[in-house]
Amino acid sequence: MAESSRNPRPLSGAVLPRFAGVATFMRVPTAEPKDLDIALAGVPWDGGTTNRPGARHGPRALRDASCLMRLIHHVSRVSPYDLARIGDVGDCPVNPVDLNDTMGRVEKFYAAIHQAGAVPLSAGGDHLITLPIMRAIAKDRPVGMVHFDAHTDTWDTYFGGHKYTHGTPFRRAIEEGLLDPKRTIQIGIRGSLYSPKDNEWGEKRGIRVICIEEYFKLGVEKVIKEARRVAGSGPTYVSFDVDGLDPVYAPGTGTPEIGGYSTAEAQAMLRGLQGLDLVGGDVVEVAPPFDPSGNTAIVGATMMFEIMCILADAVARRKKAGGKKR
Ligand code: MN
Ligand code: MN
Repeated sequence: MAESSRNPRPLSGAVLPRFAGVATFMRVPTAEPKDLDIALAGVPWDGGTTNRPGARHGPRALRDASCLMRLIHHVSRVSPYDLARIGDVGDCPVNPVDLNDTMGRVEKFYAAIHQAGAVPLSAGGDHLITLPIMRAIAKDRPVGMVHFDAHTDTWDTYFGGHKYTHGTPFRRAIEEGLLDPKRTIQIGIRGSLYSPKDNEWGEKRGIRVICIEEYFKLGVEKVIKEARRVAGSGPTYVSFDVDGLDPVYAPGTGTPEIGGYSTAEAQAMLRGLQGLDLVGGDVVEVAPPFDPSGNTAIVGATMMFEIMCILADAVARRKKAGGKKR
């Protein structure tokens, strides 16, 4: 394709060693949203964290670790940089001492990406960042979601009525009409509860909650099938909280829960989403202060690469169909 040769290309590790140079996601050039199909962005903010903070340092660690990614997906053979214009649009402006101010800044930053016609793939940050991202990209129609997490993040309030934490973004997104619960699936839910009714609110509204026990009973292939059934053909967001993984694979996170799925299983599930009408994604809750080996950052960067490949495929299919980019 003539056009693809003009797409931004990552800096090759065969030209400049991968540990050298300015760290951007996947070593792609920095760019403006208007020149991109997929905008890679960081949200260095953990003001929604209820327990161990540190995810504000996630984007920098993920950029660093992402220098390990090469050009082509080794299973699907998707070559994302041939299919889509991909660049690093930098970090979203944040205010570490003001939650409401930050929510507004994140929404504004992503509204600019959305208006420019690009789809975002983000590095958190804690999981509350997904709410202002959805406010920006799902205003005109609700999205479905494939959600990997140990937690539903559909709790109501914390600390005496506080509505905005990383435990509440999807309750708010459903209330605000941004997220279609009937097209939402949550995979890997586990951990001790606040109340026996913790999952009830979401399930009553139609969220398909796959607790980890059911996950292991079904196995990867059936879970993929179920995710595809639930998401259907409508616009779908992929949100990947690294605490969905077992903490042996991803210890560097604020709210680890033992007994999760493996990195290989998560990769297989993400690959299984190829063909859905994906309109954005994120990898959240990588907390470098709890990640002394740096492995959680490598895991997070690799999951970002996996999502980038299925997102590039979705972008290319929409372009080919002559339709809108998102
Ligand atoms: Mn979460
Ligand atoms: Mn979680």
